[in-house]
Amino acid sequence: MVVRVLVVEDDPSIADAIVSGLRRNGFDPTLVGTGADAIAGASDVDLVVLDLGLPDLDGTEVCRRIRERSSVPIIVASARSEEFDRVVLLESGADDYVVKPFGLRELIARIRAVARRSAGGPTSEVAPISVGAITVDERRRSVAVDGEDVQLTAREFDLLAYLARDPGGVARRSDILHDVWDPNWFGSAKTLDVHVASLRRKLGHPEWIEAVRGVGFRLVEHPGGDRSGPGDGAATSPPSDP
Ligand code: CA
Repeated sequence: MVVRVLVVEDDPSIADAIVSGLRRNGFDPTLVGTGADAIAGASDVDLVVLDLGLPDLDGTEVCRRIRERSSVPIIVASARSEEFDRVVLLESGADDYVVKPFGLRELIARIRAVARRSAGGPTSEVAPISVGAITVDERRRSVAVDGEDVQLTAREFDLLAYLARDPGGVARRSDILHDVWDPNWFGSAKTLDVHVASLRRKLGHPEWIEAVRGVGFRLVEHPGGDRSGPGDGAATSPPSDP
């Protein structure tokens, strides 16, 4: 069973990023842009991600109205500029909140945590993530390249899964060390480079994990020019003028 998420967001660019990110991470997102649609749709999903600043209703009101009829978990997403009181928010029935701008990885971590708590057990089935030729199966903790299993250490797996949750997005070195290693990890940052080097070697394609100088690393979805598709070659198709 795939976790169905109702995304309530009226800003199209944020909505697109959330929806495509959730889909890529194995969730089944549905998008609505108003409080009224959120209240109507909340009963058919496993979890709600709720923007506070909506065109028709105040987010806390939406939260309350959903809560009147359903115990579906709600994660509120609020911009820093929107005056918000976490106590009011939690009292109105929200389970958790993220402050915008938030990273996709952070949102997914919150969703997983809330979904796990509400399911009362180990995390529900999470579909494997595909990034280019790589498949990361977090449930089985396995990785395949072009369908061939790749043996990774636990830490290498965690690192790859972390990067795969937001392909193309740069993960900061400090965030990786904090999230993949340990919040209180004070060891050498060299450790990260050692693990990246080993991961690149095992994947067989060093260019898939790109170093962003002075920032961190990202997993590249379509590295190089090895896509033998039709191409969007602008020069090849003459206009068909009658
Ligand atoms: Ca908004």
